[in-house]
Amino acid sequence: MMEIRKIAVIGAGQMGHGIALVSAQAGYDVILNDIKEEFVQGGLKRIEKSLLRSVDKGRIDEETKNETLGRITGTTSLQDLKDADLVIEAIFENARVKKELFTDLDGICGEKCIFASNTSTIPITDLASATGRPERFIGMHFMNPVPVMKLVEVIRGMRTDEETTTTIKEIAEKMGKVPIEVNDSPGFVSNRVLLPMINEAIYCLYEGVGTPEAIDGVMKLGMNHPMGPLALADLIGLDVCLNIMNVLYEGFNDSKYRPCPLLKKMVQAGMLGRKTGKGFYDYGRE
Ligand code: NAD
Repeated sequence: MMEIRKIAVIGAGQMGHGIALVSAQAGYDVILNDIKEEFVQGGLKRIEKSLLRSVDKGRIDEETKNETLGRITGTTSLQDLKDADLVIEAIFENARVKKELFTDLDGICGEKCIFASNTSTIPITDLASATGRPERFIGMHFMNPVPVMKLVEVIRGMRTDEETTTTIKEIAEKMGKVPIEVNDSPGFVSNRVLLPMINEAIYCLYEGVGTPEAIDGVMKLGMNHPMGPLALADLIGLDVCLNIMNVLYEGFNDSKYRPCPLLKKMVQAGMLGRKTGKGFYDYGRE
């Protein structure tokens, strides 16, 4: 087990700010990095708001809130990450941009530093190849919203070593999460199982088998899913869903993963779900 004291989180967006929060709550020193100062500040604000909510609900006291905040510093400079023991990357889902970032980090961080990516779809083995440390490179796939969801899907790349895997699982546990180890493969396990289910629900709608309410109702009431697959697709974003289906389709070269034509059409029409006000359901603001 490697000793980890300082965690750097790159990308202060939806996932990054949550990862920085749970890292600080686990007692680690945290550096939160983004490309612009306003994005760093935005992430820090969201962290503070979330902690304030916990104080209001009586889950933590004022002192714990301040201590947690005190462990997090923001920066726009990658150089400030040079003494991090673990870097968790949560920037845009773009393989080229991520690989460039990891190549830069490889020259900045110490050779023992572990690199982890929160990518949903990009092969860990491919990202690892942008560095000189593929054995200390791993997938650490948090779920959204990070402070609420228990799972961390820990993805071993082809060359990830045992010590790195053990260390990352232990850190996830310290963050109050349950790590589940899987191997690198398109969509890992989470999206490989979830997205074809969503895609199939879209086929049911496309073929007129049921209304959105009927399809979601069957899955909620019959399978105890907290949310129907179409409502979940609206929440994830239909563009993101289509992207993941394409990753599976191209990754396996198997027609069983072909995205439903209705999904493609809705993305073309800009009906992306909640974020555009319209998807399978209407959210009343276009
Ligand atoms: P987001 O758009 O909310 O945040 C991304 C942040 O990264 C932005 O603040 C952006 O400015 C910053 N960024 C971009 N390039 C950068 C760079 N080179 N250096 C530093 N910062 C940079 O995105 P998100 O939803 O938080 O997703 C981040 C990652 O997490 C993606 O890989 C995504 O696939 C993955 N993921 C997302 C979810 C989800 O539900 N949103 C769930 C699991 C995994």
